[in-house]
Amino acid sequence: MKQLPDFIQKLIAEFDKLPSVGPKSAAKLVFNLLHRKEDLKILANHLNEAYNHVHSCPQCFNLTDKGLCRICSDPNRNKKIICVVSQNQDVEAIEKTNQFNGYYHLLNGLLNPLEGTTPDKLKIKELVQRIEENGIKEIILALDQSMEGEATVLYLKKLLRNYPVEISQLARGIPMGANIEYTDEATLSSALENRKKL
Ligand SMILES: [Zn+2]
Repeated sequence: MKQLPDFIQKLIAEFDKLPSVGPKSAAKLVFNLLHRKEDLKILANHLNEAYNHVHSCPQCFNLTDKGLCRICSDPNRNKKIICVVSQNQDVEAIEKTNQFNGYYHLLNGLLNPLEGTTPDKLKIKELVQRIEENGIKEIILALDQSMEGEATVLYLKKLLRNYPVEISQLARGIPMGANIEYTDEATLSSALENRKKL
């Protein structure tokens, strides 16, 4: 790609950093966009807007363009129950089921010590703080059924044992290895409803 202008190579390099996009797909996406001038302009505007307005909610760490996110600032939700998820897409997936009326807490990942994701890299300290300060009664762990998800559940179960809070985990309806975000609404809904105490 040496013959390409520098800025195109840099653009491809940025796309290459995205999850599930290899260098070849990155180049394909960039070339496709460069041939669609109007869409390129729209994308540039959206990216600019996202850069200027989007930040993490200071309470749950979901993305928002307001101070607190839409969910944290909703007074009609149950303040005593927190659903712990690893990422933004999981909040969207659970909200779609209409089965959950509490608040969320995003860990921003799952434990994976071999790849450097140790407990201090996740928003665990902040979760404990919320439990302590807000009189939380129940924590639902809605984490992927993967090695990392299981490791995170075990860690949180042990850590939260010392707090007066009920901990439950999504029922096993979700297949091993499956991500919350790709689980269909009916399965997720029943996994929530049949959550088991830890
Ligand atoms: Zn929030």
